[in-house]
Amino acid sequence: MSSDCTEIYRSPCICGSGEVIVEFCTPDHPWPTKSKWFNKSVTCSKCSSEYRLIEQDDKITLVRKSDVEKREARRDEYSKRCNDLLTWPETEKVLGQLETLLDDQPSIAACHRLLHKSALTSESYSSFCRKWNGADEWIEDNVHLYNLGKIIDLLDKHIPLLVDEMEQLEKLRKEQDEFIPYVGEHVIDISHYQEW
Ligand SMILES: [Zn+2]
Repeated sequence: MSSDCTEIYRSPCICGSGEVIVEFCTPDHPWPTKSKWFNKSVTCSKCSSEYRLIEQDDKITLVRKSDVEKREARRDEYSKRCNDLLTWPETEKVLGQLETLLDDQPSIAACHRLLHKSALTSESYSSFCRKWNGADEWIEDNVHLYNLGKIIDLLDKHIPLLVDEMEQLEKLRKEQDEFIPYVGEHVIDISHYQEW
């Protein structure tokens, strides 16, 4: 795709032998689109091997590459542990109990009431009915890490190992959104480009 790019920032890099350059780009076709992006480059091999330009909090800033890599490693770990947790025998036990509980309900209306009351579904009864194809299928389609805690509350089955891992994952989730400290003076405000 071709594009229109405008240079919005150019300044010497940290060591001074190259430059930090940022361009603001939009597609150069006439139809309306929301897509826009920034080309970010450090034209110095020393600095580009040590630093990265990233977007955070409506700014483009120079940060340590090792900090970015640490955050990426935390993201990978978080996503792997989330997937793993859903296959733990303890999780399967909890989901098995949920399935039994739903199967024991006298009607689909009763299943909807139960899940609605526990904030496990926000669907209207008619839409819930249309999709309902048994408890096992509902569990397969709707259970994720973010609502596993609500299921545990509903069943009142607080397996310490599971609850502990969920707490650690929540901590990890918050850590991966942590702000990466800037290096040097390269702070480019891009807030007004966001509305373009
Ligand atoms: Zn440099």
